[in-house]
Amino acid sequence: MKMVRGRSRVGIKAAAEVLKRGGVVVFPTETVYGMGADAFNPRAVARIFAIKGRPAENPLIVHISSLSDVKKLAKEVPAAAKKLMRRFWPGPLTIILKKKKGVPSVVTGGLDTVAVRMPSHSVALAFLRAAKTPVAAPSANPSGSVSPVSHRDIMEDFPAKSISVRRRLPDALISAGRTSRGMESTIIDVASPELRILRHGSVTVEDIASALGTAPKVLLRGSCGAKRPLAPGMAKIHYRPRIPLWVFATAAVMKNILLAAKSPAAEPVKTFVIAPVGLEGVFRRGGFMVAAFRDAAALSKRLYSLMRKAARSGASVIAAPLVGGGGISLAVNDRLIRAASKTFR
Ligand code: AMP
Ligand code: MG
Repeated sequence: MKMVRGRSRVGIKAAAEVLKRGGVVVFPTETVYGMGADAFNPRAVARIFAIKGRPAENPLIVHISSLSDVKKLAKEVPAAAKKLMRRFWPGPLTIILKKKKGVPSVVTGGLDTVAVRMPSHSVALAFLRAAKTPVAAPSANPSGSVSPVSHRDIMEDFPAKSISVRRRLPDALISAGRTSRGMESTIIDVASPELRILRHGSVTVEDIASALGTAPKVLLRGSCGAKRPLAPGMAKIHYRPRIPLWVFATAAVMKNILLAAKSPAAEPVKTFVIAPVGLEGVFRRGGFMVAAFRDAAALSKRLYSLMRKAARSGASVIAAPLVGGGGISLAVNDRLIRAASKTFR
């Protein structure tokens, strides 16, 4: 895997060359790192699925650096989509549009729609401009596990030294430290008769309602715990950390269970608690490791990096309560529920 610094113009050009020649390039965005290939090169895109172990029916998001690229991908752009692009691009909002015929079906999982996003990360934009083609890119993690929010996460997930996986490595990695948002984009479907939120993210339902003057339908309101995926890629189990995650209905439920001597959760496990409790910091308290956050917004930026930190810390379990309120809490709860190995009510 060729390593390239996001600060290096020459490096970005070289990574763009790798992509143009049909290679797979991991690059930073403000949400999570993406694993990209030329969206119009089906063979290159197919390699992303092989490297990630991703099911073929799970479509990818196509990343662009200019509004004019939308025309290459979408058959039509409804007025609502234009409003959303003006208000939220570049930024963490993915928009589902009717696709043009020329968009390879490997990108869209065989659907007649395509997911499009213009990221705001300066390195992502520089890379996309240099690539001169829309770049299809899912999150750069092995399928089902936690999305990478730093180039170090990629090196952890795809260790270059392991010979058995060498064939299954991306060709290049553009490094740029930790991402600012720390969680995947919000997804809105404007290709269906009603506007639907398919995934919560840091662009909230309220933000979208205020931009459009009308509230979108929330397909997966706060709980993506539906038995059957309601949209492709919305499988119930996802974002799994390397150690079990126990999710509690409230902070009070968590406290009762963790501190009750006879509860099933009070076995001698090393517990790493992640909770928004009004203060900020990582500390030890009563035998527990605690990562505390002021609020859900602060937690959303660090949730994935803490899931990884917890796994590295030697803890055997992560414990986290669901967070109250709307807005970004819905995104946090969605990821917690889908990452959970056990939930306590
Ligand atoms: P990832 O970038 O790993 O978060 O994966 C992209 C996600 O975008 C998929 O898992 C789907 O949930 C969603 N997505 C991509 N394309 C479409 C589409 N055409 N229709 C609905 N959802 C999509
Ligand atoms: Mg993903």
